[in-house]
Amino acid sequence: MRIVLLGAPGSGKGTQSQRLMQAEHIPQVSTGDLLRAAVARGTELGRKAKEAMDGGRLVADELVLGLIRERLAEPDARRGFILDGFPRNLAQAQALDRLLATLRQPLDAVVQLEVDYGELVRRISGRRTCADCGRVFNLFTCPEQLSENQLCPRTGAPHRLIQRPDDNEATVTERLRVYDEQTRPLIEFYRARGLLRTINAEGEVDEVTRRLEQALHAMGRPKAAKSVSGPGGKSRSPRRGGARQEAPRRAAKSASSVRRKPAATNRAASKGKPARRAPGRTGTGGRRSARRARR
Ligand SMILES: [Zn+2]
Repeated sequence: MRIVLLGAPGSGKGTQSQRLMQAEHIPQVSTGDLLRAAVARGTELGRKAKEAMDGGRLVADELVLGLIRERLAEPDARRGFILDGFPRNLAQAQALDRLLATLRQPLDAVVQLEVDYGELVRRISGRRTCADCGRVFNLFTCPEQLSENQLCPRTGAPHRLIQRPDDNEATVTERLRVYDEQTRPLIEFYRARGLLRTINAEGEVDEVTRRLEQALHAMGRPKAAKSVSGPGGKSRSPRRGGARQEAPRRAAKSASSVRRKPAATNRAASKGKPARRAPGRTGTGGRRSARRARR
């Protein structure tokens, strides 16, 4: 499952990516993390990125795309990924499209997390970051995470929470303006490609996660390998068109969202190992049990 989460600052992309990563066993690919890691390791891309950041410049798109490309080549990304923090504008979305096409890993879905403007401002101003490990907490949305018992993996002491300068209320408005101007156009871009799902991202974190999973599993994706593999059939083969036969059955349930049948195309393009990929692709009902069975 290859996914982009779209949402304004404070919409909960980071939190939901983490949860999705655990539920679907696919890595969260955060461009911020990639940049920090590359800088820390001192790779060539990392050195270039550091130069730009030290000079107060934006890191060039090609550089970020290079990091994404490297990351997606790692084995754990074969079953899919969640892109977090990229793309942020049309040019990046188009470049990403081209990159994923050459990698034969096109996106399956783009989920837009919708949150009311006032709520965004409140959430961002409640955000605290650990100065040591970089983990983000929120005073308002996840107060239980702030327990003193939670120790920082870096220092072994409680997390050292600070408010990042750009999480101040004064700068929030500006960040939201930039989002509206630069990133919001991506909603139409992905809608036109039949990839967009929109969910209401207000309310309890668990509830939002549930909506997110529903949106993803209503993608017209076949149920599990078991529904397709007959006796002796190890699994469906993309060439045999198993996915294609399966799609209309799901379509009846999930209404019009399936009309483009992107899943079938994607599956044909990605010639991974069907047996290993199967658990993550299970339908809504069987997913949890399939996951447990795998362990
Ligand atoms: Zn920490």
